[in-house]
Amino acid sequence: MVRWNFKHPVTFNIDCKVCGRHRQITCDLDDVESWKNGAFVKDCLNYLHSDQVELLVTGTCSDCLNDTLTNDH
Ligand SMILES: [Zn+2]
Repeated sequence: MVRWNFKHPVTFNIDCKVCGRHRQITCDLDDVESWKNGAFVKDCLNYLHSDQVELLVTGTCSDCLNDTLTNDH
């Protein structure tokens, strides 16, 4: 696991709204604020795994997102 040197580390505790699985996501508060101010999440939080980004943005883990996509009838 790569350790990042965050200026203002912030940890989000997020439970997937579909399966309820608990995840912790640590990132830099400055980057979160850039995102909230309209930057693309994949640009300002590009060090996060795409699973973590999905959870931050949608509140749904990648497993459940994949289920949703593949089971969409
Ligand atoms: Zn889930």
